[in-house]
Amino acid sequence: MKTSGEEGAVLLPETVLSNAEIADRLASLAQLLSVQKENPYRVKAYQRAAATIRTLSESIDQLVRDGSDLTEYAGIGQAISSAIREIVLTGTLGKLEKLRSQASPELASISDHPRLDPRRVLRIYKKLGISSIQALRERLENGDIEEKLGIRMAQHVRQGITPTHGMLLYRADELRVATEGFLIDKCGVRRAEVVGDYRRRVEVIDELVFLIETNDLPSVISKLERYGGRTPMLSCSKDTALFALPSGVLLRIQVASKENWGMALVSFTGSKAHFKKLTTVAGNLKTLKSNGPFPTESALYRKFALSFIEPELREGLDEVERAAQGTLPVLVSAKDIRGELHAHSTSSDGIHSIEQMAVAARERGYEYIGITDHSQSLKLARGVSVEDLLKQIRLIDKLNKRIQGVRILKSAEVDILADGSLDYPDEVLRELDYTVCSIHSRFGFGKTQQTERILHAMDNRYFNILGHATGRLLLKRPGYEIDMDRVIAHAKQNGCFFEINSSPDRLDLSAENARAAAMAGVGIAVSTDAHHTRELELVRYGMDQARRAGLEKPSVLNCLPWKTLARLFRR
Ligand SMILES: [Zn+2]
Ligand SMILES: [Zn+2]
Repeated sequence: MKTSGEEGAVLLPETVLSNAEIADRLASLAQLLSVQKENPYRVKAYQRAAATIRTLSESIDQLVRDGSDLTEYAGIGQAISSAIREIVLTGTLGKLEKLRSQASPELASISDHPRLDPRRVLRIYKKLGISSIQALRERLENGDIEEKLGIRMAQHVRQGITPTHGMLLYRADELRVATEGFLIDKCGVRRAEVVGDYRRRVEVIDELVFLIETNDLPSVISKLERYGGRTPMLSCSKDTALFALPSGVLLRIQVASKENWGMALVSFTGSKAHFKKLTTVAGNLKTLKSNGPFPTESALYRKFALSFIEPELREGLDEVERAAQGTLPVLVSAKDIRGELHAHSTSSDGIHSIEQMAVAARERGYEYIGITDHSQSLKLARGVSVEDLLKQIRLIDKLNKRIQGVRILKSAEVDILADGSLDYPDEVLRELDYTVCSIHSRFGFGKTQQTERILHAMDNRYFNILGHATGRLLLKRPGYEIDMDRVIAHAKQNGCFFEINSSPDRLDLSAENARAAAMAGVGIAVSTDAHHTRELELVRYGMDQARRAGLEKPSVLNCLPWKTLARLFRR
């Protein structure tokens, strides 16, 4: 006879699934559903849940065995929660197995790599006359995919079939919080601080690095191996270890002592080039160490008569020399921002009305917000006709009388057409406070033609800011080719400006290009391209990029009051 405690007990599989394995099954399901033209919202929901699970430090398998309520996690509703339970309790997912059994062998094997877009891979198969993942891998390595189907396709395949891969900075932000919490609460380290690319705010993170203070590295390692159910360790030595996190990003932990924490921060935050430059001033590593210990970074910099170098600048450019001369830039910061210059509303493809966007800007303490809906040719994004734009201008005049505390600027994101002309006639552009002009088509033009197209557009006296200058989408597609030096010189000559588009998958201008533009004396807007009131927050990623470019407050357009800006925009 069973005791009451065993009543209803289910026989559970012995293997514990890692979060990565559970997430993979959900993502495979999403992948196969998408081929079947399933409701895209449902497909997205499975993909989002998979992404959430990959960053969690708790073991989902364990949570299910403990009977926890999974719907408390963001993005996991009833249906997905029961799918996860089924995966953990039976080791499979009926719906997924059924779809796999109905799929062609090619498609079924693609579904073992849930990050691949099956429709794109099938297109590659057809074009190259292949039919297996193995052949796909070979054609990627020998450059066939890039040559015959473009760099964007090659990048997609590489992301899809390599086990470790980069992550956008804004997603790494969530991962950092989860990992840091795990190190402190579950691994019992006395202190954990993030360093490396993440601390320098690099836009794509491949490896998340933490300094930790502990006397028991082996115990920390064995706990980390249970992160998210299971996290394989790739290598270790006496004071460091490397893991492959379920999200595909590498995690490195590096032991440092309290007495020499500052020295470790300096060693592990800067790029290699930075550290090399530092040793030319402070002596080699041995000399550096013999001058220590340095409990803080400031103590180290002081010892070698350097001013404090902000982490974002530690790339090995000119920051060490300037720190020695005391001429480092005073970097722009979030508190300097006075307004937003690139935002969409329901007039084109935004989610919120002009009034809602304005109120949200005011709540952030902004003095102004420019409404830059898409222009008439961009039909995909519900571009605004001339007639509707004129109506919108009159509406904004009315709103400005009614809404206090924030000024709505009349603007548009004007398409730069193939021949370099702007997508509204001059007599309409004249009615706007300023323009953001962008390329949304014909990415395939050669470098010269694409450059001439932009230069020609800049010759229009109503051209003010070049939107997302290179069109890149991080981890998805490289930008179109342009001669940045020529574009910067032309902007300078014509009184035009650039933006750093803060959308985490754009961050365009790159830090390197933004630095070049600012050095040439061309002002830069740090804009969000918000399509939702919540997206105004993304400005912090644009600011990270601006700081990496060494920008100071005077070169950032939206740190200026509108009166000054209005003068700059009149050409
Ligand atoms: Zn755009
Ligand atoms: Zn836009």
